Amino acid sequence: MDSLIASLTARLGAARVLTAREDILPYGFDGTATLKQLPACVVFPRDAADVSTVLKLAREHRAPVVTRGSGTGLSGGSVPLPGAIVLCLAKMDRILEVDSANLTLRAEAGAITQKIYDAADAVGLFYPPDPGSMKISTIGGNVAENSGGLRGLKYGVTRDYVIGMEVVLADGTICWLGNKCVKDVAGYNLRDLFIGSEGTLGVVTQVLLKLLPKPAARQTLLASFTTMDAAAETVSAIIAAKIIPCTLEFLDQKTLRCVDDFAKVGLPRDAAAILLVETDGHPAAVADEAAKIGELCRAHGATSVRLAATDAEAAQLATARRSAFSALARLRPTTILEDVTVPRSELASMIRAVEIIAQKHALTIATFGHFGDGNLHPTILTDERDAAEMHRVELALAEIFEETLKRGGTITGEHGVGLAKKPFLKRQLGDASYELLRLVKKSLDPEALLNPGKIFD
Ligand SMILES: Cc1cc2nc3c(=O)[nH]c(=O)nc-3n(C[C@H](O)[C@H](O)[C@H](O)COP(=O)(O)OP(=O)(O)OC[C@H]3O[C@@H](n4cnc5c(N)ncnc54)[C@H](O)[C@@H]3O)c2cc1C
Repeated sequence: MDSLIASLTARLGAARVLTAREDILPYGFDGTATLKQLPACVVFPRDAADVSTVLKLAREHRAPVVTRGSGTGLSGGSVPLPGAIVLCLAKMDRILEVDSANLTLRAEAGAITQKIYDAADAVGLFYPPDPGSMKISTIGGNVAENSGGLRGLKYGVTRDYVIGMEVVLADGTICWLGNKCVKDVAGYNLRDLFIGSEGTLGVVTQVLLKLLPKPAARQTLLASFTTMDAAAETVSAIIAAKIIPCTLEFLDQKTLRCVDDFAKVGLPRDAAAILLVETDGHPAAVADEAAKIGELCRAHGATSVRLAATDAEAAQLATARRSAFSALARLRPTTILEDVTVPRSELASMIRAVEIIAQKHALTIATFGHFGDGNLHPTILTDERDAAEMHRVELALAEIFEETLKRGGTITGEHGVGLAKKPFLKRQLGDASYELLRLVKKSLDPEALLNPGKIFD
């Protein structure tokens, strides 16, 4: 290991290689509760050539490499392995080009998601994927996890906006996949293989993103319900009325009270559930959709419907929703946030199943999420120092995943498999598809040096 660190220091410069315990401590965990491991060192490349150098040296020394953006991941993807080099792309954070003629933006992988949104916004364009962590997550991390966000229902997820990328392969080869063409069917779509690959197939160093014209108007509504079933029926009714809002989020009572204590936005604390709905587009269409959504909410039992009167009020409501995780995290020392996803028709029954599991194992589980996408965030509030409680948490998680799969759902809608959901992946995919994943990994990373042990062993 000493000779590897000496070679890395010689090639990158001492300032770009951290080895002291106090310096590398922050890189030993990500946003996932209970997972931590110190790496051997942390390196900060300047460009793809540096990344290539690091991968070649790692190969020579047979050292595992764990790529890292901002470390906000929620499945342990950037948690190091013993003896690993953490390859942190946070300093490769430049926006390289905004092309208004072709509606594209090219950025280094370490660029913060919010910075990408802002650069597009500054020229009247729009980058829709908006993970709750967008003020700190990197675009490389978003691509590696295929992250979703609050606008997923109408606009899709990160994959829908990546039209090109520069990627460094396990042997240090630098290649470019994709281009600015709207249509391109030359060869296999290799770009898609790297999206959502969680740092196990290559290191993304640049991304080329598709942008949209900025919607001219937005309207936000908040509707309260006395039962979760009524909220779920309202969601089905909105979709059945052929309205696809850009945001269709829900908070259960535990979450909304906690968010209100934290963000103080006057949420209806007695509601069993609230829906936060945002519609965007042409001003006339937005006004029409907002009116229809309001009617549908009332027709399905909403006890109140509040229309944000100003942009500031709309932003405050969206911020309140985005702060759900942080607000809940204040209640107990350990917060385990899951992201199981079911077909929309199964949402209400899945939420009930989570409540039953919480009662059975005497746990506090708050649930919120992207109702329009069928994506739930059952959030277990616990304490990792309490071994008995943690055992009950493990049992509850296994049951939540089982209930999800029984309903035709997936163990992860946006946070990835990483370390946290690895034991459940085969159960979801079945032997044949699982083996196919392993074949892809073997052909792109035959020596298993890129984030080994993540997704599968
Ligand atoms: C408060 C909070 C809210 C969140 N909200 C959402 C949400 O709404 N939607 C959502 O999808 N996620 C959400 N997340 C999860 C997380 O923010 C996303 O997964 C995000 O994309 C991770 O970005 P990062 O830069 O922090 O990546 P990291 O955590 O550093 O890495 C994540 C994974 O990507 C790999 N990786 C990182 N960069 C690269 C690269 N350049 N090349 C190859 N592999 C790479 C890592 O090896 C790791 O496997 C949230 C997290 C928090 C803490």
